[in-house]
Amino acid sequence: MRTVRTFEATITNQKQMSDDLDQLGWAASKLWNVGRYYAQERWDTTGEIPDDGELKSELKSHERYTDLHSQSSQRVLEELAEAFTGWFGKRRNGDSRCRPPGFRKNGDSHPRSTVSFKAAGFKHDAQYQRVRLSKGRNLKEHRSDFILCEYQTRPDVDLTEWDIQQVRAVYKRDEWRLQFVCRTTIDPEPPGDETAGIDLGICNFVALSFGGESILFPGNVLKEDEYYFGKEKAKCDDSRSRKRIRIDRKRTDRRSHFLHILTKHIVSECVERRVGTIVVGDLGGIRDDKNGDSRNWGTHGNLDLHGWAFDRFTTLLDYKAEAEGIEVELVSERNTSKSCSVCGTVDGDQRVERGLYVCDECDMAMNADVNGAENIRQKVTPSLVCDGGDRSTGWLAQPAVHLFDRSEGCFAPREQVGNREP
Ligand SMILES: [Zn+2]
Repeated sequence: MRTVRTFEATITNQKQMSDDLDQLGWAASKLWNVGRYYAQERWDTTGEIPDDGELKSELKSHERYTDLHSQSSQRVLEELAEAFTGWFGKRRNGDSRCRPPGFRKNGDSHPRSTVSFKAAGFKHDAQYQRVRLSKGRNLKEHRSDFILCEYQTRPDVDLTEWDIQQVRAVYKRDEWRLQFVCRTTIDPEPPGDETAGIDLGICNFVALSFGGESILFPGNVLKEDEYYFGKEKAKCDDSRSRKRIRIDRKRTDRRSHFLHILTKHIVSECVERRVGTIVVGDLGGIRDDKNGDSRNWGTHGNLDLHGWAFDRFTTLLDYKAEAEGIEVELVSERNTSKSCSVCGTVDGDQRVERGLYVCDECDMAMNADVNGAENIRQKVTPSLVCDGGDRSTGWLAQPAVHLFDRSEGCFAPREQVGNREP
């Protein structure tokens, strides 16, 4: 897993270096303004804002561009283009108060902008805790003129363990500081070698099986939101009104929040049970098949919501699991709702009544979603559930249920929810 971290350092020879750094900081502001001016002209004549590629190619022969190392100048123009993109995005989302990026001026003078140095623009000396920063041609007094900063990081930071991608000179609280943007590869040890299975659905958004224990996560919160925001939207006459855009944004935020908390909760439950692999039933095929399979997605409606939510869920789960060293595998859902996870019998005409799967062969009655999740788990770790003997099969029929508590913003077992008497 690749991680990016930024470490800040003080410059110990600040006095000697600050004039040179000031020159660069002011130059970065001037170049920003040159780019900002160019963008304004383009906007006024064509109604379009240039992207960073155009800014770079149009302005690279500008005098201000050669005040800084070429990579530093490129970064200034990239930041400007990013600021315009951010402004566009906000405007598109209905935020009319947000302003386009401005000019960097304080009356007649300029603020000190952050200057970034990429690979060719700095040289790091780990042994002596020094970093050499390049100036642009215009500001060099002679060919080998550069800025040599001595720095100090927090004592627990050892930059030799990191791969420095970029150095930034930042003016903060009346002094220059350095930021080292570093990358490293971390491979966390998985918590164990157990396997968990996940079945995604509509009533129960997630059924989670550990093979011996199971948890259901109802999706009622998503459905309530869908109902509520649907009604709110219906109240707006104009489909492009600002209010409607605001409702859409709020709904998306609420869904994302739910999925973030859910995936985080699931990963922590998996860590506790020493899970190294989470198997997720892939719904790709089923979603396309409108009449398909026993679950009959069409009649539930909300196909769009759930298509979006399932994709987002899987992405978030993958990302949060990776940080714990847990692997997420997608497997086909084929037959996972039609098979008995206890005896392995596959029956296309299986009875599912009030959420129960009842096997004709072994007479086992189970929660249908837990049975699905267990079958998905067994696709990676084949081991049928033993009926009888020592192992209880109660968890198949009576899973734990964790509900989303909106006021607390977390999931909790059912008995703890709504049980806070004064
Ligand atoms: Zn069976």
